[in-house]
Amino acid sequence: MSIENSKADKFDFVDRALAERVEQQRFRSLQSVVPIDGVWVWKQGRKLLNFSANDYLGLSKHPVLIEAAQTYTHRYGTGATASRLVAGNYDIHHQLEEKLAAACGRESALLFSSGFQANMTILGALLNPQSCVFCDRLIHSSLIQGIRASGARFYRYAHSDLDQLERLLKKASSQSFDRLMIVTETVFSMDGDRSDVDALIRLANRYGAILYLDDAHAIGVLGKRGMGLAAFQPDVDLVVGTFGKAFGAFGAFVACSRKLRDYLINCCPGFIYTTALPPAVIGAIDAALDLIPNLDTERQHLTKQSQNLRDRLQAMGYSTLNSDTQIVPIVVGESARTLELSQALEAKDILAVAIRPPTVPEGSARIRLALSSQHQEEHLERLFEALEAYVH
Ligand SMILES: *Cc1c(COP(=O)(O)O)cnc(C)c1O
Repeated sequence: MSIENSKADKFDFVDRALAERVEQQRFRSLQSVVPIDGVWVWKQGRKLLNFSANDYLGLSKHPVLIEAAQTYTHRYGTGATASRLVAGNYDIHHQLEEKLAAACGRESALLFSSGFQANMTILGALLNPQSCVFCDRLIHSSLIQGIRASGARFYRYAHSDLDQLERLLKKASSQSFDRLMIVTETVFSMDGDRSDVDALIRLANRYGAILYLDDAHAIGVLGKRGMGLAAFQPDVDLVVGTFGKAFGAFGAFVACSRKLRDYLINCCPGFIYTTALPPAVIGAIDAALDLIPNLDTERQHLTKQSQNLRDRLQAMGYSTLNSDTQIVPIVVGESARTLELSQALEAKDILAVAIRPPTVPEGSARIRLALSSQHQEEHLERLFEALEAYVH
């Protein structure tokens, strides 16, 4: 290869990867929007009703969170200046962790930069190539990345098939793995259905497996005082909650025993070698945590609207899978037809993004609708009108 050629060719793999995605209708590109309030956004000069955000309680635009972010910034600055173990461990980080632990009914909590990073680095710290992991087929990419990076053996059981999970656990418990772990979500991000947390606890206890639950879409929305589906359950060894969704902010935390917290502080590179969350973010999370336990009325409204949405979609002949949360899929099947529906909705001022493989299984491309407690009857009516115009 000449010097000239080697320069021209070194990004061949990029051309191939992009061409492949275009061909499979999987090419992704960034679309920018400007938020207006909890439910409306500007997109290319048009005002769209947003059904694709995870701001389930509308808190990202709440004046109390905005004010707390500003107050914390004035007091503590814009950055935390160092990692927690060096000089970035401000009193506000520690106080927020104590408050989170208490709110979840757990011994302790530890903050992470994001849900993605928490899942990757915590699983990496808990697993090694001698470990064996069992995970639901539909878990989030961040969990899979963490398990893969650890080198652990892993098996994916059919979605919510706990009989299959038990068979796998039984078989593995007679083999020589150093530890077993069950990894799943409490609410599945693309289907909007729930795990049976009590049954998972029974299985984990029966086979001595570590139980790791990702509560990203339940925290703030479901469970006692809105603290998720795995709160007040010390038998769930680790629960990851995120702050970028119902909390309206950014970041993540794990709730666990004090001993596990010590272990993570010492053994998680993604905790040790990264700058602490910035004061503005801590302020917003803290304010959200004060509000969330008292938002039962908003949560009831959200539950009611979600049921209403599913009823109407099903009456139109769409499958909403087993959704029973604020996440309601409209399963279309083919990627091209799903994009077409998304575009038809956008022409009617509705932002409802198409979710395609590999984010969801082959043949199950969908519009993933996510409701907020700020969506009112009139907003849903606009969505139904747009959908009916497309069907008919
Ligand atoms: C969104 C999400 C994450 C990632 O959280 P971020 O804080 O956005 O990085 C992790 N797990 C699940 C199930 C999610 O839906």
